[in-house]
Amino acid sequence: MAAKVKIAMTWAAACGGCDVALLDLEAKLLELTRIADLVYWPVALDFKRRNLAALPDGGLDIGLYNGAVRTSEQEEDALLLRRKARLLVACGSCACFGGVPGLANLSDREGIFAVAYGSTPSTENPEGVAPEPRCSVNGNERTLPEFHDTVKSLAQVVPVDAFLPGCPPPGERLEDLAGIVARFAATGEAPPRGAVLASDKALCDECPRNGSRKGGRVSEFKRPHQLLADPEVCFLEQGLICMGIATRGGCGLSCIRANMPCRGCFGPTAQALDPAAEALSALGSIAGDANENDVPAHVMKRAVQSIRDLAGTCYRFTLPVALLNRAVRDVPAEKSP
Ligand code: SF4
Ligand code: SF4
Repeated sequence: MAAKVKIAMTWAAACGGCDVALLDLEAKLLELTRIADLVYWPVALDFKRRNLAALPDGGLDIGLYNGAVRTSEQEEDALLLRRKARLLVACGSCACFGGVPGLANLSDREGIFAVAYGSTPSTENPEGVAPEPRCSVNGNERTLPEFHDTVKSLAQVVPVDAFLPGCPPPGERLEDLAGIVARFAATGEAPPRGAVLASDKALCDECPRNGSRKGGRVSEFKRPHQLLADPEVCFLEQGLICMGIATRGGCGLSCIRANMPCRGCFGPTAQALDPAAEALSALGSIAGDANENDVPAHVMKRAVQSIRDLAGTCYRFTLPVALLNRAVRDVPAEKSP
């Protein structure tokens, strides 16, 4: 019998949903163990980092990394997994694009600490204590991982062989991953470097509502709780923002089928210059007054202003991989060039 493929799964700035999605494979996960050994998966079993570190470099066949890279410890984990794994897969939208944790790039460490350890309604911290990477307790030095200013995707830290988007990746795409593991076990064949395990067309291409678009204009964008959406009609036509126009297909349309607009977790198609640019351009082209052909600037402005949290809406999963990947601090006048 051929040797089993060795797989490791580690997590970083993540919610645990990607690990749960893997567990949700249930019996298929057990089938996988016929051809693969899970040699490291700290969320599910009592593994320690030293178990992974003890493997020879390249001694791991497939490394799955879920979560964004936010701290020095997560960066070390990414470097360690890259060194050990012959095939490194960014698993889930956080690893692929920075995901929801990446929205922290709209602020910085100082701003985040000020809220988390200062101003939340449940915080009682009169001395303003915040985590420090180094401190001394009874004369003994204690350390914590450094909290970086900027959240990164996995590929911004180490080279990545394949990307599995989704928040979390849906079962069908995880089965594709299982197929890759099986092929790797049988023939040693790996997907082409940088492969994305999803469609390269926009979600609209596979959406049953696509034919209902009539090109109507929207003077005010609504949020999903503000109206009862018609389940047959394109959300954009109803004034609801749907990121399917600028998002890769392949998710199985579970949000659309549940009558919820796409939020963009599969990330941009390969052709997109910036994850949000295409969406913004599409939203701009439908903003206006239903009864007017010409759209005066103030009408356009009003429509755009009705989008609550524009950056959070258009970059919900992708800010760290955007052209402008974080908020830029004001440069004091005397220091500006
Ligand atoms: S991709 Fe989604 S499910 Fe996975 S860790 Fe990130 S937030 Fe959680
Ligand atoms: S914008 Fe959304 S609802 Fe409309 S066709 Fe595309 S995916 Fe479907």
